[in-house]
Amino acid sequence: MSNVLLIFTGGTISMAEDPVTHALTPLTYERMLRLVPEIKRLGVSIDTYPFSPFIDSSDVEPSFWTRLATLIYEKYDHYDGFVVLHGTDTMAYSASALSFMLRGLRKPVVFTGSQIPITMLRSDARENLLTAIEIAAAKDSNGNAMIPEVTIFFEDSLLRANRTTKKNSEEFAAFRSYNYPALATAGVHIVYHPELSLKPNSESKLSLYTKTDSNVAVLRLFPGISERIVNAILNIEGLRAVVIETFGSGNAPQHAWLHKTLKQANEKGIILLNKTQCPVGRVEMGRYQTSLNLLDAGVIAGSDITTEAAVTKLMYLLGEYGEDTETVKHLLTTSLCGEQT
Ligand code: ASP
Repeated sequence: MSNVLLIFTGGTISMAEDPVTHALTPLTYERMLRLVPEIKRLGVSIDTYPFSPFIDSSDVEPSFWTRLATLIYEKYDHYDGFVVLHGTDTMAYSASALSFMLRGLRKPVVFTGSQIPITMLRSDARENLLTAIEIAAAKDSNGNAMIPEVTIFFEDSLLRANRTTKKNSEEFAAFRSYNYPALATAGVHIVYHPELSLKPNSESKLSLYTKTDSNVAVLRLFPGISERIVNAILNIEGLRAVVIETFGSGNAPQHAWLHKTLKQANEKGIILLNKTQCPVGRVEMGRYQTSLNLLDAGVIAGSDITTEAAVTKLMYLLGEYGEDTETVKHLLTTSLCGEQT
């Protein structure tokens, strides 16, 4: 029998309607078992760990990622897999962050949540919960985990955490991985695609990285963006890195002031990462004239990385490598755990 640790952190899936007040209150595992008694039929031994207090995922901070990653690291040898119940709003950030903090995983860490609380009639929590536990417990014929990496399971797809974006606040299919296929799909059967998953070698040991640096900004370009705005952002005190959300294949307006401001920022040691505003496709600087200034200013191409993965990767790299900007820049062009093509 596989052992799974079910971690409650908050969000809709960890809340239940109080029968008297109708307010959403934190859910206990005992109440969850009463609401979804089928959990027992999964044939998985489940322990639970409730975070205190439960939080709405809009309140997530990097210190929360550190706590969560450390918990999984400390409990790693006791379980075959981990399920993290988390609010959907920032799940893609937390799951991406964990993929950088927990490296060399040979066990699944599956994030899931729901759009409707488990106490409501049409809730999606039940299916998401049961399937996430089943996936976290799944092993191949050699006894190895089917998908040994950090993932998000939602509706019918198991997605690589650091490829995922929340794309819908109403439909049950809330998440999408635009540039990498699903690692498993759940229909009548759960069909796994281990060939698409990360391949830890059998000796690989889990490493924990918990240092982060949040001196990161996101600058989304738009036609008419003013010099004043860009200057204000690039001159923020203590700023270490900027994710520049560009047009199409990584293009930007050709203003001389933009070129100059970015070049000066780069010379001051601020890391500039080019991420396209298109969810599908990747940055190819040099393809159009409108990206030549960015290249010349020292902007780094972010390939097809998501904004969630770009921000959390930068926080992790800046925390880990400190002032060693050259190493951070080099690692930004490398896929550390499947986050970019
Ligand atoms: N606001 C909630 C959260 O992200 C929404 C949800 O759980 O789906 O915590």
